[in-house]
Amino acid sequence: MSASTRRESANIPACDLCYERKVKCDREETCENCKLAQVECRRTRPQRSLSVAERLSKLENKATQPIPE
Ligand SMILES: [Zn+2]
Ligand SMILES: [Zn+2]
Repeated sequence: MSASTRRESANIPACDLCYERKVKCDREETCENCKLAQVECRRTRPQRSLSVAERLSKLENKATQPIPE
């Protein structure tokens, strides 16, 4: 019995292709649109959770080593 196998994929962003085409992504490992287009299904866009500023500050933290007095 397959009672509506609802996957919790709400948080998964559309893949690059679907995002660019502004079409619905089925969020499979290789989504239908990518299969049809015969391209690699990728999600390389930066996640919203980490802003560029945050990433920069993290890098800065790494770069600035504690200078022994
Ligand atoms: Zn897609
Ligand atoms: Zn795709």
